[in-house]
Amino acid sequence: METPPIIELRGIAKYFGDTCALYNINLEIANGEFLTLLGPSGCGKTSILRLISGFERPSKGDLLLNGRIINNTPPERRQVNTVFQSYALFPHMNVWDNVAFGLKMQRRPKGEISRRVAEVLRRVHLDALADRMPRQLSGGQQQRVAIARAIINNPLVLLLDEPFSALDFKLRKQMQFEIKHLQRQLGITFVFVTHDQEEAFAMSDRVVVMNEGEIRQIGTSQQIYEEPENLFVARFVGDINVLDAVITTLGENGICMADVEGVEFPLHVRREYEPGETVNVLLRPEDLKIHLEHEKSVESPFFLGRIEETVYKGATVDILLTLDNGKRLQAVEFFNEDDAEISYRPGDRVTVTWVAGWEVILTAESE
Ligand code: ATP
Repeated sequence: METPPIIELRGIAKYFGDTCALYNINLEIANGEFLTLLGPSGCGKTSILRLISGFERPSKGDLLLNGRIINNTPPERRQVNTVFQSYALFPHMNVWDNVAFGLKMQRRPKGEISRRVAEVLRRVHLDALADRMPRQLSGGQQQRVAIARAIINNPLVLLLDEPFSALDFKLRKQMQFEIKHLQRQLGITFVFVTHDQEEAFAMSDRVVVMNEGEIRQIGTSQQIYEEPENLFVARFVGDINVLDAVITTLGENGICMADVEGVEFPLHVRREYEPGETVNVLLRPEDLKIHLEHEKSVESPFFLGRIEETVYKGATVDILLTLDNGKRLQAVEFFNEDDAEISYRPGDRVTVTWVAGWEVILTAESE
């Protein structure tokens, strides 16, 4: 990173009594970045937010804001604001007063308050609704009030803890675009928490995948999806087929041969493997190529198998198949202009191979 990080967690651990919520977390967040903490319930995402906001203190390690250690700095002196799941709006105040509240508490001059509230309401497209009470707003509008309130003090960092959890599917998607757009306009660093992988991918510059108090991978959405560093990440971010393989010959130019589920395949590898080493071959459903067995244009090598089930999804068809050795795989068929019919039926015999180079190879014990 060229400019110093706006936030840095150095060797942070957090204990609640005997429970260790975070182990040795090291993380640098760049100024202006949209960073998402992604992971299952209880993995420690909210604990990281609460440390950054100052509602909790680290048990070990240092937390830095703009290069300064802030372990003991109280929340109100951090220039960090949080948007909570519940939005926490004042029900008896209209939108304007909700947004103006913090500035009034600071006893800012009236003219300044009016100017700043008007400006921030315009930014979140709520200027026409300034007189409404929270109960007269949709979920998405309430959310924008909460954001307006959080950005009115020009924080360096905005923390968002599952802010869409109360919204329905369609509104969630719309808000994802809006928040991402708003973040770009404002240039403020956003740290966003979610357990929803699609949401994380849709919004973030970088995603931090966590499990059981540890960071399992940090990367762009594409890196996390296409180059998972371990089985936990691979499985958490979408469907994945995990094939068992044994390296048979040490290859050249990044390719070695392996026995994959009983069939000899060339594998594209990132490092050298010894013959006899056991590995996992990871393939996303869209990496697999399927042909009906009687079709002649099949590349070799290939597996033989049988279609078990097809599930129509609109733009795609999910395919469940079983290889002749009993291994179950998930594949997907995309419709295109020439071929708008489902190509396979349960019971069809098929050959299965994959797009060369799209496989990810991990040592078998990396989970
Ligand atoms: P969720 O998605 O369910 O909100 P999370 O990933 O945000 O989960 P945290 O809330 O950070 O997870 O919790 C991490 C661990 O720390 C959990 O085991 C939780 O039970 C524990 N924990 C969090 N806060 C406290 C607390 N105040 N006292 C005791 N244990 C806590």
